Amino acid sequence: MTTREATLIVGDGIGPEITQATLQVLDALDVKFDWDEQYGGMAAVENAGTPLPNATLDSIRRTRLCLKGPLTTPVGGGYRSVNVALRQEFDLYANVRPTKTIVPGGRYENVDLVIIRENTEGLYVGLDYTFKIGGDRRALAQAMSIVTREGSERVAKFAFEYAKTHGRKKVTIVHKANILKATSGLFLESAKRIAEQYAASIVSDDKIVDNTAMQLVIKPEQFDMIVTTNLFGDILSDLAAGLVGGLGLAPGANIGTHAAIFEPVHGSAPDIAGKGIANPSAQMLAAAMMLDHVNELGKAKKLRQAIEAVIVKDNVRTADLGGRATTAEFAKAVSGRIRA
Ligand code: NAD
Repeated sequence: MTTREATLIVGDGIGPEITQATLQVLDALDVKFDWDEQYGGMAAVENAGTPLPNATLDSIRRTRLCLKGPLTTPVGGGYRSVNVALRQEFDLYANVRPTKTIVPGGRYENVDLVIIRENTEGLYVGLDYTFKIGGDRRALAQAMSIVTREGSERVAKFAFEYAKTHGRKKVTIVHKANILKATSGLFLESAKRIAEQYAASIVSDDKIVDNTAMQLVIKPEQFDMIVTTNLFGDILSDLAAGLVGGLGLAPGANIGTHAAIFEPVHGSAPDIAGKGIANPSAQMLAAAMMLDHVNELGKAKKLRQAIEAVIVKDNVRTADLGGRATTAEFAKAVSGRIRA
């Protein structure tokens, strides 16, 4: 692998601990990233007076690749969410959330699905207002949902390309076009048009979102990939994480034309920060997604297999998975598996 420059934001709370563990296993994999470390979140407020300094943005603009720990969103002070700001700044239109059963003995054994969520449109465009009627200042509320053909087609294309690269067989388009005939209807129509272009190699179907939620709970193994709009994707991707034991093992990626940012789905876990007991798996799996993104598919697979083997076969688990291993012990075990 040639050395590639990438931005590193270690994050707040447990961020430094899980990132340190992740760098250690990347080292064992002999992965060559030239890290440009930058601040974000509370660490950036303390060091630069803002949660998202220009130096951090400049770095991502240059490297187009970022591994990020969880950031604490400062309460009050008028700060906007760093994650939302990054999404807007780099037009990160595809949110990728893989969900896979790792720990056996849970509710579902064979879940292995990837949800692609459109990240920039829909009800999350921020056109959300209240109106005064008579004496009530907040008598009426209105939100606007924006869906474009271009936005729908590009996220659908991303989903089908992802399916091709990752050997996935089927993409389900999730919508509510029976009721939201204009917005969800346009998404469905656009995504179906893209699906036709891939029909020779990838099967596709469509499902209404409420039925999808029920089917995910009844028989999640039937899904391979889902592509959907912003709000539905937000809800379904957390639902999916819950099927396999919560957010502790869930990585995510936000991908756009100008940059790609990889992170664990969980937050900064202030309750256990500094104790050395956080589970670094989600951050390690985020790094595996980053390796996929730079076409290091073999190394990504090796990392995933090592994490699974350590949890399932070696029974080395952190407290959130019912074990007693520290973050450092877990990292050492994964590095050992990689080198074996
Ligand atoms: P959280 O995910 O940080 O924690 C929820 C619970 O899960 C806590 O009990 C925590 O100890 C546990 N947990 C989380 N990650 C863990 C890990 N890797 N290993 C073991 N246990 C883990 O959610 P929260 O407490 O609601 O949020 C804390 C802060 O994180 C807030 O400021 C929030 O805004 C921020 N946050 C950031 C992101 C992000 O940067 N992507 C995502 C979610 C929350």
